[in-house]
Amino acid sequence: MGDKKIMCLVCGRIFYEGQGIKINIGGQELVFHSKSCTIKFFKSLVLYLDQKNLGDAVKMTIKEFEDRISEIREKTKKKLEAL
Ligand SMILES: [Zn+2]
Repeated sequence: MGDKKIMCLVCGRIFYEGQGIKINIGGQELVFHSKSCTIKFFKSLVLYLDQKNLGDAVKMTIKEFEDRISEIREKTKKKLEAL
């Protein structure tokens, strides 16, 4: 854990480097002190994005997680079958 102080850009809380959540997006490094601040930020961000492309982006993201869930289910099934 470093001793560099960072400010959460959603709520202004000060925290130390190594804590919180760091995300690189749009060529910028964003720092949040908690998951709830990260979600708040992304909820606002979405409103500024092109709403036409947003529909497709939502579908693609849902698909990605659906694929991940079925992959996990498949692995669990195989593990059970191997028993
Ligand atoms: Zn915060």
